[in-house]
Amino acid sequence: MNIKHNISIVYKMLLYDFLYFAADLLIKLRNPCEIHQIDYDVLLLPTDKKITMRRAVCISNGPCCEGCRYLGDNGCTTKCLRCKLWVCYKASVKHPKLPSLLKKITIIASRQTLLWLRDSREETYQFLKKSR
Ligand code: SF4
Ligand code: SF4
Repeated sequence: MNIKHNISIVYKMLLYDFLYFAADLLIKLRNPCEIHQIDYDVLLLPTDKKITMRRAVCISNGPCCEGCRYLGDNGCTTKCLRCKLWVCYKASVKHPKLPSLLKKITIIASRQTLLWLRDSREETYQFLKKSR
């Protein structure tokens, strides 16, 4: 691997962190998803015993992280720029200025090939290292 390629990767990863920080700040300030925990009862057959369970819900049909390998008990367990830059239609309607702000970051990130669906920062780094 040559020096130019290494410098390019360092630059891209610094940019990744900066863009992630900016997107994360926007999401935290607006809180478009309003994710919160709810309790619900489950009937256990055949005993008819009820148990109370807890799950996360958002303002739409999500949370859309469901099924992701990085989803832990307290939400996302990694750093994924692609995810930070996406909100669903319902959240976009409720926060109409947010998609255009996120799109500006998306364009910069996309030009630097930093967007990989549901991939962590570390995986992005590995992709960049392999790409020439
Ligand atoms: S983007 Fe939409 S579906 Fe995903 S967590 Fe936010 S509100 Fe829910
Ligand atoms: S990587 Fe993306 S989809 Fe997976 S848990 Fe984190 S934010 Fe959700």
